[in-house]
Amino acid sequence: MPEGDVVWNTAQRLHAALAGQVLTRSDFRVPRYATVSLVGQTVTEAVSRGKHLLIRTDRGLTVHTHLKMEGAWRIQPAGGFRDSHRLRVLLANAEWLAAGYQLGITEVLKTSREEQVIGHLGPDLLGPDWDATAAAARLDRQPGRSIGEALLDQRNLAGLGTVYMAETLFLRGVDPARVVGSVEDLPALAELGHRLLDANKERLGHVTTGDSRPGRENWVYGRAGRPCRRCGTLIRRAEAGPPGQERLRFWCPNCQR
Ligand SMILES: [Zn+2]
Repeated sequence: MPEGDVVWNTAQRLHAALAGQVLTRSDFRVPRYATVSLVGQTVTEAVSRGKHLLIRTDRGLTVHTHLKMEGAWRIQPAGGFRDSHRLRVLLANAEWLAAGYQLGITEVLKTSREEQVIGHLGPDLLGPDWDATAAAARLDRQPGRSIGEALLDQRNLAGLGTVYMAETLFLRGVDPARVVGSVEDLPALAELGHRLLDANKERLGHVTTGDSRPGRENWVYGRAGRPCRRCGTLIRRAEAGPPGQERLRFWCPNCQR
């Protein structure tokens, strides 16, 4: 599942291609919105909120999408588009075409009602109003929950996925199975998650070690059975979370307590 930095970057690219331009083509391949046309409307902006994408028009409409597991937006010069059964929505102006594939959510709603779809989100790690203290307070509401699970809950803070959850907890020396109430300095933990996402938002990849060479980008994520870069202990991996929503965790049993 894409992390918040990928979604932020996607919003930037959508904004660059679509904002300020009149839509000359719009095509929704989702039954509920199949008859909706945004042709003639001007896109005012594209923004991300956590892992949600919002494309707003001058007539008070918002195209709300979420990449979920497999989704992606691709942007290309208008013309020369090859159709695909994976297409969920296509928006184009005279110059650029933006195509959303395999999106987990595709819907059109009034901009004034966006709160209905993003109002549940905690502080956005890459939002203009990021607030580590507020995020920590939300984490603290369920002190008996595992910190790994709590960090992935977008109602606490919006934008972290399994990569940054694993890396943030390694860098803070916290075992992902520990309960929230036993973790010291939650604001610092949340702030570190923000810094890692922020450092990666302009580029491809999720580099947390400071070394972007292939295979060296991360401390623990994706490294099960390999030696910890700090202490040599073998990195462990487990699935945790409610049935049907298990998420992978990676950790060093020596560095993280
Ligand atoms: Zn270690």
